[in-house]
Amino acid sequence: MKLFDTHAHLDDSSFDADCEAVIEKIRLSGVSYVMEIGSDVKSSETAVKIANAHDFIYCAAGIHPESADTAVQKDFDRIRELALNEPKVKAIGEIGIDYHYDDCAPREKQIACLEAQLDIARELDLPVIIHDRESKGDTLRVLKEKNVTNGVMHCFSGSAETAEILVKMGFMISFTGVITFKNARRAIEAIKVIPLERLMIETDSPYMTPEPHRGKRNDSSYVRYVAEKMAEIKGISLEELCEITYNNGKRFFNI
Ligand SMILES: [Zn+2]
Repeated sequence: MKLFDTHAHLDDSSFDADCEAVIEKIRLSGVSYVMEIGSDVKSSETAVKIANAHDFIYCAAGIHPESADTAVQKDFDRIRELALNEPKVKAIGEIGIDYHYDDCAPREKQIACLEAQLDIARELDLPVIIHDRESKGDTLRVLKEKNVTNGVMHCFSGSAETAEILVKMGFMISFTGVITFKNARRAIEAIKVIPLERLMIETDSPYMTPEPHRGKRNDSSYVRYVAEKMAEIKGISLEELCEITYNNGKRFFNI
């Protein structure tokens, strides 16, 4: 089966003790590709190291909105340098806006951090991985102002209407194990309106663990539960869904 986990955080501290063992478990489970996602300069550097050590892992470099407060020009320069010089960096991400936590960076700071990295992606002709949490209005406005078309909205939690707007903008939309939860009605409605060629699957591990493993640490081998649920929603076979989302991921990340 062709499985592509398009969003994982193997550099997360919860993998510190057994990262190599987890990567071996993922490989043995039959996952074809993993996209390892940076969330600040240090984590992007680790992401490159992990990708360089494993054929089937690629990576993205970027500064997450949670780290926007301390981001300065030399950090953006470093992200650009990684994206320019490291062949396994296939996207800028994850970047975006997060209004969920009060202790996140001030709004203007988050927006400036996103804009700076959208400019890097444009200059280097790389796709972007967008994080949007309770910030739909500002996120869509910035993406439209910057005329971004080559992006994925990751861990999508919005409505079917928002999904349709993103599809019109040219975006890919990616879903996590959240779609396996009992209260996932909204995500299911969104998946129904998104064309198959715009869908991707991800774990966002170690977070967002799908049923039946909810509550435990997530890893890329569980991406198959996301695929199973998405195939059921779309009314196609698991093999077909895996093949389509695998090809979508390869095309989007230029692998
Ligand atoms: Zn993430």
